[in-house]
Amino acid sequence: MNRYDVIVIGGGPAGSATALFLADSGYSVVLLDQAKFPRDKVCGEFISPAADAILERLGVLASIEALSPVRLRGVAISSYEKTGFVVDYPPLPGTTCPMTSLSLPRMVFDRLLIERVKQKGVTVKEGHKVTDFIVEDGKVVGVRGLDDAKTPFEFRARVVVDAGGRNSVSLRRFDLKKKSRGSSKIALAAHWTTLKPLEKYCSMHISHPGYTGIAPTGEGQVNVVLVVDKKSLQGEKDLHDFYVRTVLKNPLRRNLLGKAEVEEKVRSVDSLAFSVRPVQTGGLVLVGDASGFIDPFTGEGIYLSLRSAEIASDVIDTCFKRNDFSKDALAVYERRRKKEFSKKLLLSKIFQRLIYCPSLCNRVIQILAGNPKQAAIVVGVIGDYIPPEKVVSLRFLGRLLANVCRNGL
Ligand SMILES: Cc1cc2nc3c(=O)[nH]c(=O)nc-3n(C[C@H](O)[C@H](O)[C@H](O)COP(=O)(O)OP(=O)(O)OC[C@H]3O[C@@H](n4cnc5c(N)ncnc54)[C@H](O)[C@@H]3O)c2cc1C
Repeated sequence: MNRYDVIVIGGGPAGSATALFLADSGYSVVLLDQAKFPRDKVCGEFISPAADAILERLGVLASIEALSPVRLRGVAISSYEKTGFVVDYPPLPGTTCPMTSLSLPRMVFDRLLIERVKQKGVTVKEGHKVTDFIVEDGKVVGVRGLDDAKTPFEFRARVVVDAGGRNSVSLRRFDLKKKSRGSSKIALAAHWTTLKPLEKYCSMHISHPGYTGIAPTGEGQVNVVLVVDKKSLQGEKDLHDFYVRTVLKNPLRRNLLGKAEVEEKVRSVDSLAFSVRPVQTGGLVLVGDASGFIDPFTGEGIYLSLRSAEIASDVIDTCFKRNDFSKDALAVYERRRKKEFSKKLLLSKIFQRLIYCPSLCNRVIQILAGNPKQAAIVVGVIGDYIPPEKVVSLRFLGRLLANVCRNGL
C-alpha cells in the first residue's frame, strides 16, 4: 500500500536527516529519490564543525569516523593575492574542546546517510522522480511521478517534505522561487590527485574572476571548487580547460596544488543564490536547499540542511500530535528557521558582497589578519557554533568600519 505518515522527496543531507528524525519518532516514512546511490554532487565537501552534534544525534557520526575522514583545523583565506591569514577554529565557547570540520566526498557522505536511513526501516525508493503533488481541498496529500522504467507511481501521506534541493519540484509547481538579484554565477568542481599532502585547512582564495575553495578530502585527493561570474565564460570553448587555467593562474593556488593533477572531467552547476516565498499550502514543508540557497562562499549548506531537517521534524511531530497539518500549523517551522538562521544569513550576504569589492575585501582581510582573536570569532560563526551576534553586532561592525575609515582602503 502506498500510504505512509510522511513522504520525503530527496535523499541528500536534508531529506535523509528528516527521514531519520521522523523514523526515530515512530512515523512510517517513504523517501523517494530520482537518483540511485551512491550519487555525486558538486560541493566544497567541508562540513561545518557544528554538524558533528547533529550527525551524532542521527546515529551516523560513528560510521563516518570509522573511515578516518580528514578533519580540517581551520580556514586559510587570501584576498586578491595581496593579503591573507590562516586561523584555527576556536574552541567551543565555555570549553577548551578543539573544533574541526569534516572534509568528506559527497559520494561517501550521502551514501552513509542513506544507508542509515535504510537501516532505520524507512522505505527508500531510488530511481523515483516526483513530478507533481496530489492536492485535495487546498492541501498536499501525496505525490506522483515516474520511476526509472517510466512506470507511474503515487504515494499518499499526511505530510510531504520536499528536500529535492535547488531544483525541487515545489519551487516550480507552487511558483515559490523569488527572482534572484545579482549576476549569474557558475561553480566548476573537480577532484585533483596530489603527491604533496596538503595542510588540513580549507583554503579560500578570493581573486579574479572568482574564488576557489580547496580542501583535502583524503587519500591524496583534493577537492577544488571555482565559482565565477557566468560572463567570464564568454568565448570559452572548453570548460575543463578554462577551469584548470583559471585555478592555476593564481600563484597561491599554484603553490598549494604543486604538481597535483585533475583526476576527472570538471563538473559544473549554476550557483546563484535564491530565496523562497513561504509555502501557501497545508501538508507541505520545504527543507535544505529547497527552502533557499546562499552563495557557497561561507560553505554551510550541509549544516543548514541538517539543522532545518531537525527543526522541521520537531514541528511535524507536533502537527501529528495535534492532528493539524494546516498551512498555519506548519508555518511554525518557517518562523523557527528564520529566528535561528537570519543573523547568520545576513553575515553570509555581507561576505558575498565584500568578496566582489577588491579594495574593501583586501582591507577587511588585512584587519582580520592583524587581529587573530577577531578572525577566530568570524571563523567560529561561519562554523555555526559561535552565535552570529558576536559578528553581526553594531559594536563589531562599527569597530571594523572605524578601522577601515582610519586607515583608508
Ligand atoms: C558549488 C557549491 C559548493 C558547495 N560547497 C559546500 C560546502 O563546502 N559545504 C557545505 O556545507 N555546503 C556546500 N554547498 C551547499 C550544499 O551542497 C547544499 O546545501 C546541500 O547539498 C543541500 O542538501 P539538500 O539535501 O537540500 O539537497 P541535495 O544535496 O541537492 O539533494 C537533493 C536530492 O533530491 C533529489 N531530487 C531532486 N528532485 C527530485 C525529484 N523531483 N524527485 C525525486 N528526487 C529528487 C536529488 O536527486 C538529490 O539526491 C555547496 C553548494 C554548491 C553549489
